[in-house]
Amino acid sequence: MRFHEFGGLEKLRFEEAPEPHISPTEVLVRVRACALNHLDIWARGGTRSERIPLPHISGSDVSGEVTELGNLVSGHSKDEKVLIAPGINCGICDYCSNGWDSLCDSYKIIGYETQGGYAEYVAVPATNILPIPDKLTFEEASSVPLVFLTAWHMLVTRAHLAPGETALVWAAGSGVGSAAVQVAKLLGAKVIATIGSDMKREKAQKLGADFVLNHRWARRTPQSPQLFRRWKTQACGRLRLPTHGSCEGSGENGEERALRKDSPQSVMGKQ
Ligand SMILES: [Zn+2]
Repeated sequence: MRFHEFGGLEKLRFEEAPEPHISPTEVLVRVRACALNHLDIWARGGTRSERIPLPHISGSDVSGEVTELGNLVSGHSKDEKVLIAPGINCGICDYCSNGWDSLCDSYKIIGYETQGGYAEYVAVPATNILPIPDKLTFEEASSVPLVFLTAWHMLVTRAHLAPGETALVWAAGSGVGSAAVQVAKLLGAKVIATIGSDMKREKAQKLGADFVLNHRWARRTPQSPQLFRRWKTQACGRLRLPTHGSCEGSGENGEERALRKDSPQSVMGKQ
């Protein structure tokens, strides 16, 4: 699936494309599943178009099987089940050496600034493949890369969330939001999750959220700031705020302001 020019959905073409060639440090992966991400839409629409090769194959969240290895690649084998970590970097500059690889001058996202996974095969650096356990399906594995990478960066790298603290996850039904609930619980934190419709409540609870609030209801309810304060008291910890910036009204509500005074926050999705 490719597009040859930027624009709407009508620009996507289902067509034959050459099989990618690999360099000595790359592997060829037969794509078994590729998740959709809003990044695909931004790419097709031409966001930062100067960085997107045309014709372009989108798809940054990929899982599959290794079918070919470059002659300098070791530690991997054919037929290995893998998911693809989407960030490519130089690996040696100061940023890469200090864990800030997304600031590397060479940083690229597979499927955005390179050809991606809406295809039968994708060529990627061998350093970007991660083995996946048999208990994970390819579809489950392909749902992991971008959203968990983002949620982990927000909660661990930026917010330093610690056991016993509390995270407010705005829009827990979103990809990053659902990942953030799971990461926060893994870290031993309590989680207040907001949802935009009640049909998402059960999912948020199953993911581990300790408190779930419909933020559309809360915005119409004068008592919501008090409600958040009570939860904050119950949670007995500092609040971390990974808010989904593309969510309607986030960052502007009384309930968020009620928490913001002494709480670190991390925002993604602002455009
Ligand atoms: Zn670098």
